[in-house]
Amino acid sequence: MRGHLSHRYLIALGSNRRHVRHGGARRIITAALAAIGALDARVLAVSPTMTSRPLGPSQRDYANAAAVIETALRPRELLRELQRIELDFGRRRRGRRWSARTLDLDIVLWDGGVFSDDALAIPHPHFRERDFVLGPAAAIAGRWRDPVTGLSLAHLHARLTKP
Ligand code: ADP
Ligand code: MG
Repeated sequence: MRGHLSHRYLIALGSNRRHVRHGGARRIITAALAAIGALDARVLAVSPTMTSRPLGPSQRDYANAAAVIETALRPRELLRELQRIELDFGRRRRGRRWSARTLDLDIVLWDGGVFSDDALAIPHPHFRERDFVLGPAAAIAGRWRDPVTGLSLAHLHARLTKP
């Protein structure tokens, strides 16, 4: 039985590395969504998976998606579960900032508003500048407002992408 699903989160998924078992980045996103669906959580919405050019020196393409979930897990509990999934996908936590990664799972927004401790910051500190996060996020939760700026995801996305 699932506990009281009292928290809603927007999660960003990203991959830019081939994985022996799951194939290309797109398929890693699909497999990661299944892993999130297997948590003690209800998946309310999933964006299309989008591909984009990488930042930094990496030559690979990224695949990105976003999901809205409802769960009893509190922010730090959810982070721990997402990090377990990342490790399951063979992510290596090395110092290099732009090292190739199989899977990156970030908590972008939480319906409880702002959360901050030494390991977790919600809203995610960089999501407002990342088209590959805002694109998928706005596609499924355009009216969700960033508690820091007061702007909706649709507004933040439009602001970032306008010429
Ligand atoms: P980024 O996702 O910004 O590209 P990383 O995934 O390498 O960078 O960052 C990992 C660290 O970021 C984790 O150890 C985690 O403690 C921390 N972190 C802080 N806020 C968040 C968040 N909202 N979602 C996921 N990880 C976060
Ligand atoms: Mg991350």
